[in-house]
Amino acid sequence: MIPSTPIENIKRIGPAYTKRLKKMGIKEVGDLLFHFPSRYQDFTNIVKIKDLQKGDEVTVQGHVTHINQRNLYKRGLKIVEAYIEDDTDTIKAVWFNQTYLTTTLDTKKTVMLSGKVGLGKDGLYLQNPIYEIKNLGEMSVHTGRLIPIYPETSGVSSRWFRYIISKLLPIVESLEEQLPKNILKQNNLLGIGDALQKIHFPKNTEEAEKARDRFVFENIFDIQLAALKKKRELKDLASPTIKTNIELTKKFVNSLPFQLTDSQKKSAWQILKDMERNFPMNRLLEGDVGSGKTVVSAIATLNAIDAGYQVAFMAPTEILATQHFKNLSELLKDTNANIALFTRGQRRLSHINKNINKEKLKAQIKEGAVNFIIGTHTLAQEGVEFKKLGLVILDEQHRFGVKQRASLVRRGKKNPHLLSMTATPIPRSLALTIYGDLDISLLKEMPHNRKTIITNIVPPEKRLKAYNFIKKELDSGHQAFVVFPLVEESKILELKSAKAEYEKLKEGPFKKYRVGLLHGRLKTKEKEEIMTQMEEGKIDILISTSVVEVGIDIPNATIMMIDGADRFGLAQLHQFRGRVGRAQHQSYAFLLTDSSGGSVMRRLKIIEKTQSGFELAQYDLKLRGPGEMYGVRQSGIPDIAMQNLGNIELIEKIREQADKLLEENPTLEKYPQLKQKIESIQLNVHLE
Ligand code: ADP
Ligand code: MG
Repeated sequence: MIPSTPIENIKRIGPAYTKRLKKMGIKEVGDLLFHFPSRYQDFTNIVKIKDLQKGDEVTVQGHVTHINQRNLYKRGLKIVEAYIEDDTDTIKAVWFNQTYLTTTLDTKKTVMLSGKVGLGKDGLYLQNPIYEIKNLGEMSVHTGRLIPIYPETSGVSSRWFRYIISKLLPIVESLEEQLPKNILKQNNLLGIGDALQKIHFPKNTEEAEKARDRFVFENIFDIQLAALKKKRELKDLASPTIKTNIELTKKFVNSLPFQLTDSQKKSAWQILKDMERNFPMNRLLEGDVGSGKTVVSAIATLNAIDAGYQVAFMAPTEILATQHFKNLSELLKDTNANIALFTRGQRRLSHINKNINKEKLKAQIKEGAVNFIIGTHTLAQEGVEFKKLGLVILDEQHRFGVKQRASLVRRGKKNPHLLSMTATPIPRSLALTIYGDLDISLLKEMPHNRKTIITNIVPPEKRLKAYNFIKKELDSGHQAFVVFPLVEESKILELKSAKAEYEKLKEGPFKKYRVGLLHGRLKTKEKEEIMTQMEEGKIDILISTSVVEVGIDIPNATIMMIDGADRFGLAQLHQFRGRVGRAQHQSYAFLLTDSSGGSVMRRLKIIEKTQSGFELAQYDLKLRGPGEMYGVRQSGIPDIAMQNLGNIELIEKIREQADKLLEENPTLEKYPQLKQKIESIQLNVHLE
C-alpha cells in the first residue's frame, strides 16, 4: 500500500464507503491520511468506577458482565444496556438504537468506554459512551486518549475514520519528506511521518499542535513557492517594451478636471515602469470603490497606444463595459485612441454611436485601425484577433474565472502586459497568499472631494422616516438606489419578487416619482437602457437586485438604501454603499433590517462606523475567516492553511524562506516531488 493506492484497493473499504468517500474528495490512501481531525476529544482520563461523579467525561476500563436490549415501543426506541465491572465497582452504560452492540460487546475481552457520566433514578450511568474492545498490544484508537474527531459526512463517522486511518498509519514510515531538511530544522518542524502519526493520534495536545504547525507551514509554504516561482517565470517571457511618454502623460494629467491623489500618481508610475520592461507586467491595482482606478488605467492605456500598441479592457458585465466605454471615450477624446465597444449585445466605435457589424469590427481590430477595445469576456469567446496587443486590463478581475483570465491574456506571439483591477479590499496577509504572484499597487486614499457617506441602521419602525428622507433628497434633484436581496432559489420567483417590490414602492411611497427596476433577468439592452435613463436623470429612484453592485457610476445619486441588509456580508454592503458619494454631494446609506439579533447588529454597526473597505475587510477576516469572506473556500486552499491566512507574520516569514529556496534552486530540480506538487496549485482564485 502506498499513498497513491486507490481506496477501492483497500480490503476494508467496500463499494458503499468508496462512494461516500469519493463524495468528500477522498480517492486515495494519501487523501485518507491527509484527512485531518477537526478537533480532539479528551478521554485520557481513565477513572476507577468507584470514583465516577455525575457530569465527568471519562474513560472506564473493565469487563461486560451483562448486556441486554429493551424496546420502548411507544417512543420507538431500542435501548441497549450493559454492565461494566472493574476491580472497584460496576456501572451501567446505555445506548439508544445501537442494537448491534449486544453482540459486539458480548465479549470476554477488556472493553473501554468513554463518555459522560449521567445520574438516573438507579444511580450513575454512562450515556451513549464510545466503546473500544482492547486487543492485547494494540494502541487504543477510540477511547482512553485524545480522540480525533473528523469532519464527517453522512454515512462516514469519526469512528470509521479512526478505524481506517489507524490501520493505514504504518505506511507513513515510508513516506518521503517533501520539505527541504534545512527548512524543517530551521523552523523546528516535525518530519512527515511523525507529524501524520501525531496529528491523528497525539499523546497530548502539545503533540497535536506541533503536528498541526508542520502542516500549516507546509501548506502555506507550497502556496508561496508556487506563487513566487510563477512570478519568477514571467521574466523568461517576452513582452513589448512600452516607453513612457512623459510629455504626453503630463499633458493628459493636467487636462483632467481634478488633481490625482498621491496613490494614483504612485500607482500609475509603478505601472508605467513595469510596462517599460521586456517581460510581462502582472500587477494588481487594488483600490476601494470610488478611489479612481479608471483614470490610472487610462494613463497606462494612453502610453501603450502612443507606443503603437493596442489595449484590451475587459469588464465583468455588459453594463460596466458600456459605462467604461463612455467614460474612457470622454477621458481620451483628445488622444490617438480609436475606441471600440465589443460585448455580446453591442459593437460600437466611439466616433459613430451606433451598432456596427461584428465581422467588420473584428477586421478593424485585426488590422489595427481600432487600438482600444473595451468589452466583456465575449472578446475572448469570439476569438478576436489583434494586430499588436500590448496591454490587457481586467476590471473587477476577481469576477473572472481562472481559465477565463488565462484565455484573455494569452494573445499573439508576445505576451501583453496585464493590469488587473479590483475594488475588493483584501488584507495584505490574504493578498500575499491568493495573489502571491502579482505585484500590488494600492490606492490608499480617496479623492479629496469626497464626503463621508453617512450610514445608518434603520429598524422597521423607522422605515417610513427613511422613505420621507429619500423623498426630500429626490425633491432636491438627487437620485436614489434601493437594493434588496433575493432569497428565492428559482429565477422565476426572483423576478416575481423583484417586480413585487417595485410595484409596492412605485404605487406606495414613491408614487410621485419616476421609479425604475433593474434585475438580472433583463436583457442586456434593457439593462443598458435603464442605466442610461438613470445616468441622464430620467429615473429618480432605481429599485434593483444585487446586479447594481459592481462599479456603476451615477454621481448624482446620493442615497443607497439596502433592504434586508443583514443578508449581505460586510464587503458586499460596502460595495453597495460605494455606488453613492461619487461626487461632492453629501450621500447616505440606509441599512434596513428586521432583525435585531446581537450578531447582526454588531456586524451592521461596524459598517455604520467604518468607511474604509480595508478596515472592513480586516473585520470580515476576523469575524468570518477568509473562507466565508470572499469565497476563498472554493480555492482549494486546505482548511488548515486557511485558518492561518490572517497571520501576516507567519505568512511573511514563510514567504521569505520560499523565496530563498528559489534563489538557490530556481527550477527546483533538486526537489522533484515538491516541484510536481506545487505545479498543481491553483493561484489567483476566483473570488465573490
Ligand atoms: P473606481 O476605483 O471605483 O473604479 P472610478 O475610477 O470609477 O473609481 O472613479 C470614481 C469617480 O471619481 C469618477 O467619477 C472619477 O472621474 C472620479 N475621480 C477619479 N480620480 C479622482 C481624483 N483624483 N479627484 C477627484 N475625482 C476623481
Ligand atoms: Mg471601477
